[in-house]
Amino acid sequence: MEGCVVREEPLCPGARSEKQRSSTGSARGCSSGGRWRDAEGGATVKIEDPSTGSIIAEVADASVSDGTAALDAAVDAQASWASTPPRERGEILRRAFELIGERTDDLALLMTLEMGKPLSESRAEIAYGAEFFRWFSEESVRIAGRYSVAPNGATRLVTMKQPVGPCLMITPWNFPLAMGTRKIGPAIAAGCTMVVKPASLTPLSMLALAGILTEAGLPDGVLNVVTTSHTGQVMEPLIRDPRLRKLTFTGSTEVGRTLVEQSAEGLLRVSMELGGNAPFLVFGDADVDAAVDGAMLAKMRNLGEACTAANRFIVHRSIAEEFATKLTERMSALRVGRGTDDGVDVGPLVEGKQRDKVAGLVADAVDHGANVLTGGAAVDGAGYFYAPTVLADVPTTARMFGEEIFGPVAPVFTFDTDDEGLAMANDTEFGLVAYAYTRDFSRAIRISEGLETGMVGINQGVVSNPAAPFGGVKASGFGREGGLEGIDEYLETKYVGMAL
Ligand code: NAP
Repeated sequence: MEGCVVREEPLCPGARSEKQRSSTGSARGCSSGGRWRDAEGGATVKIEDPSTGSIIAEVADASVSDGTAALDAAVDAQASWASTPPRERGEILRRAFELIGERTDDLALLMTLEMGKPLSESRAEIAYGAEFFRWFSEESVRIAGRYSVAPNGATRLVTMKQPVGPCLMITPWNFPLAMGTRKIGPAIAAGCTMVVKPASLTPLSMLALAGILTEAGLPDGVLNVVTTSHTGQVMEPLIRDPRLRKLTFTGSTEVGRTLVEQSAEGLLRVSMELGGNAPFLVFGDADVDAAVDGAMLAKMRNLGEACTAANRFIVHRSIAEEFATKLTERMSALRVGRGTDDGVDVGPLVEGKQRDKVAGLVADAVDHGANVLTGGAAVDGAGYFYAPTVLADVPTTARMFGEEIFGPVAPVFTFDTDDEGLAMANDTEFGLVAYAYTRDFSRAIRISEGLETGMVGINQGVVSNPAAPFGGVKASGFGREGGLEGIDEYLETKYVGMAL
């Protein structure tokens, strides 16, 4: 396997196995025939296990010219990929879906080692991520246009859908595989080629995925992976390259704003899946036990490191104490530890910087008068662990009311009237998702209509579903991934007028 630069390490049995070695470590990730390239000059990025701080692997550290080579490959492959029959494109996705299922244990271990979450969470992400391949394998054969008669009867109007062209996909570390499959699935189905850049902290899952797609029959050049630590330097020339037609990004709002500016030069098609600050409203008539179950999912899925994580529990004053007490019982019973160990519920945060940010937000809330019901501190020892935390009586002046926590911390705020609760929920620049618990159907409709978010979960703590359009409004971005809408992001509409 040319250019494979994984360092064998006893702590990383996933990367040591032949299967994973063959799909790990490439600057370009050129997939046909499994040929992987070293980066220019042989530079590498070290990948750390956040549970221990030890280095588990090294991957190629791409330069600007490596990045350009990846786009060259995508551009060269575009025409023939666009003309590949939709059924063939779909069958490749379907085969990849099945291979991911067969390899779940290996992929989960790799993901847990690079990202820290418990194996059960990694398996859940892998199952979720694979579903995008199944969904879009089914969508690839349903790309349809329209035929109509012009109002004056003189011409015929034919509307056709065509692939956008070469895409650049930039993904974050928190869901190392699923944030890729949500983009790669529809692009393959639509007939687009792509350059994929995973997060520097967690590139291994994406490289393994590229290997699986090669095995599933994806032709050379359709998918090209770039791993780099010189991220802005390598990405900007690609975004400004006139051959690129689409940029799709999942990550922070701050970086998203920069990328939108850069993409203006080429007037690219752009999708932005950005940060969140999800409110979790619990009304006075809610089933409190069900709300606590939902809260545990909405808060603790992925250790709170999710754009959809409930960031603010906004609870009616009449049940706030009961809710906070029950939530505290559940949070304090969670077992913190290394993600590879049995029975662990909560792994480490992804890096020291992230843990310091969480600690800073909690300290600020306490300074503003919040009471710590459980947790409230980092866990001593190796790795970046933070104790599951519940804070009560948090004032809206605390920083965490407006900032994404991205960690296992649940602050409880209170409200008195529906209008006040809704206003608090909407009092943020973000608008990705909101959750609401109530047994009153009319209230559920009113609140769903009033929430300024792209998604709403009523009496449920998870909204992510490959068959539904995932995405936000306001500073949470634009564009949708999944559902019937997901493939449209990768298709252009062309109208042909035909005179009789
Ligand atoms: P991030 O710092 O914005 O990084 C995301 C990706 O952008 C990484 O691959 C990163 O590469 C890359 N990047 C950073 N600076 C760049 C630049 N100047 N030019 C081009 N690419 C650049 O975000 P993160 O910390 O990884 O992820 C957490 C954020 O993602 C949170 O805000 C979360 O809410 C958001 N998120 C949103 C969704 C959604 O669907 N709305 C889903 C998941 C996560 P490096 O790793 O090399 O820096």
